[in-house]
Amino acid sequence: MSTRHPSPGPEQAESNRLLSVNDLRTDIRTDQGTIRAVDGVSFEVGRGETVCLVGESGSGKSVTCRSLTGILPEPPADVVGGSVEFDGQSLLEADDEQLRRIRGDRIAHVFQSPQSALDPVYTIGDQLVEAITIHNTASAARERAINLLRRVGIPRADSRIDDYPHEFSGGMCQRAAIAIALASDPELLIADEPTTAVDVTVQARLIELLRGLTDDGTSVLLITHDLRVAAALADRLLVMYGGTIVERGPLEELFDRPAHPYTQALFESYTGCSSRGDRTARRDVPTAGCRFRAECRHAVDTCVGGEQPPSYAVGDRETHGVSCVHYGPDRDPTPVLADAAAARPVSTEGDDD
Ligand code: ADP
Ligand code: MG
Repeated sequence: MSTRHPSPGPEQAESNRLLSVNDLRTDIRTDQGTIRAVDGVSFEVGRGETVCLVGESGSGKSVTCRSLTGILPEPPADVVGGSVEFDGQSLLEADDEQLRRIRGDRIAHVFQSPQSALDPVYTIGDQLVEAITIHNTASAARERAINLLRRVGIPRADSRIDDYPHEFSGGMCQRAAIAIALASDPELLIADEPTTAVDVTVQARLIELLRGLTDDGTSVLLITHDLRVAAALADRLLVMYGGTIVERGPLEELFDRPAHPYTQALFESYTGCSSRGDRTARRDVPTAGCRFRAECRHAVDTCVGGEQPPSYAVGDRETHGVSCVHYGPDRDPTPVLADAAAARPVSTEGDDD
């Protein structure tokens, strides 16, 4: 057995770090009481890197992403702890005006529901032109808007630009929302299930588009429950369950050796339309100890108390971390890792099947 490290190494060299999230905690007040939707989430995104957040519905992916730039309704949501640094600037301490400027310029969001991202009373073109920097003349901005629509695969972009959102299909609205997000040439694109509402052909095109962005140095934080999309795009994966990240690491490493029992279960159940991915509400997860223990086939007494276990390195892979007691000091994770072979979700060789 190779040496085990107490925790994985840093995800990014400091010079390459664009986004750094540390111990983020977000509460949501509901009629049934307060839930901790995000419970101690830490991760980094490097420049030009694509990081994919995967996990079933209700695990806290959207709330995590919305907490970063302050686009959660407060109330009911409250960021109650942690830090978020973007290019050295603390976003949790930024005021509304600073956040608005960062969102209009350096960090762009694509939301889960494209229709709600578009304003029904303005044409697609008007909304795009508004998002394009003011340094352009009106005709240059329109030209750029048409090009952006072409890039996201809108046919006859030069005439469709004058359509209103209701004249677009759901998939086209999704593409228009992506075009608007790209209008400011953001350094970080945060995209929440951007390929969910589109057919396979368009999905392939969007994957190409997102890949091209990172080739140009843009960073992407992508939420998806489609492991094929993750396989096609991610440099690294973050696996989320019950408001915490239970496993993290480079794509190939995670797909080859999923180490957390939850990751293994998620991958095993994956068929492209997995029932886990379609869940809408978070199940009752324990609020102490390992969040996954109630469903875990490897649960032991030590999983019960305290905090979610820290992130332990898997074997000697310093970049592969798993929040599971079986990987801690003086433990033998062999029985848990034995399940990894059966859980390989999809090949990482390509997305052309
Ligand atoms: P995911 O994106 O992983 O599907 P979310 O981040 O949307 O999950 O949700 C995390 C948890 O927060 C879930 O339990 C969800 O029900 C709850 N939640 C999210 N938004 C709201 C809201 N506006 N009001 C009440 N609960 C919410
Ligand atoms: Mg979501």
